Amino acid sequence: MSTVLQIKQVTKSYGAAPALDAVDFSLPDDAYISLLGPSGSGKTTLLRVIAGFEEPDSGSILFHGKRLDGVQPRDRGIGFVFQNFALFPHLSVAENVAFGLRNRKVDPVTDPRALASRVQDMLALVGLKGFDDRAVTQISGGQRQRVALARTLVTEPKMVLLDEPLGALDANLRGRMRSELKIIRERCGVTFLHVTGSESEALAMGDLVLVLDRGRIAQAAASDVVYNSPASAAVARYLNCYNLFAGAVVEDAFVGPAGRFPLNASRRKAPQPAYAIRYDRVAIRPRDARLSDDEVRIEGDFIASEYSGAAVNSFFSLDGGHVFEVESHLSHARPPAFVEKDRYALVWKKEDALVFG
Ligand code: ADP
Ligand code: MG
Repeated sequence: MSTVLQIKQVTKSYGAAPALDAVDFSLPDDAYISLLGPSGSGKTTLLRVIAGFEEPDSGSILFHGKRLDGVQPRDRGIGFVFQNFALFPHLSVAENVAFGLRNRKVDPVTDPRALASRVQDMLALVGLKGFDDRAVTQISGGQRQRVALARTLVTEPKMVLLDEPLGALDANLRGRMRSELKIIRERCGVTFLHVTGSESEALAMGDLVLVLDRGRIAQAAASDVVYNSPASAAVARYLNCYNLFAGAVVEDAFVGPAGRFPLNASRRKAPQPAYAIRYDRVAIRPRDARLSDDEVRIEGDFIASEYSGAAVNSFFSLDGGHVFEVESHLSHARPPAFVEKDRYALVWKKEDALVFG
């Protein structure tokens, strides 16, 4: 697989704290890449630097092996789909899409018939056939999103940057647009770099997932690797599927305010101040249930359950107030109804815990 983009030690500050701090990664050609990070972690800044709307303070960006320093945004061959779509409200759907092509610096298309035919192809690609003459103020959010994408893709970028492209859509549509975006990208064969604050979106969409933490790349790996082996406690926190505990490794256990968790021999490395257990690796048992040697247990008072399709998430209050979450998949049997304020044993296997330095 060839490399389309290389980011080398890119730093960008607006004030005291850097928005991007020695960011370093490469992206493969013809792939869907998710960039996950909480609000303020530098996602938009990174896209703006790649697109050329901002210059980095230091470091370099190579696109197809060539340095982009000083290259104007419109000459980079990189498309940008803005968070708020940024459509021209006074232009129709077709005119919005045609705009980029007519005004493109390299090889602009001005012949009306050629223009119309390209616009038609693009509207078909994004599923907006027949919407040509609609005002962009008279279509749904999902349709505006498609227009924004078509307007970018029509210029035939070599790579597309998408800043929280599904953020403005309702949950239903967001789910559908996930697969649509993947299909559209496959048809174009260019790399999409998709910024999101949603861990499920990042994991579902990315062939590769980059996790940004306070201006630094905390992890760059395939979805399943990020999900099963987050590189740090910060990554585990953003994934929103791990119970995290602070403390320290003391001899053969991880010890913190929440309790003492015996460790496998391989995990007994100090100093490691964080311990994580994934929501779906925990069993809920009666308090007096027997524990086997390879298990760890903690007690919690049941608060409530939340059903979400194929799983139910149950919340427990630990001594000290920490809320502990358990995800039970409903593929087997629906778990019994738990009694509010009753105390249960929350049990997991030693080997399923992660311990972070
Ligand atoms: P994200 O898109 O992940 O929410 P941003 O890239 O927008 O994060 O912001 C990263 C950090 O840089 C934040 O602390 C933000 O306040 C700061 N920042 C971003 N753009 C500017 C700007 N134009 N001027 C000053 N500070 C900025
Ligand atoms: Mg942003």
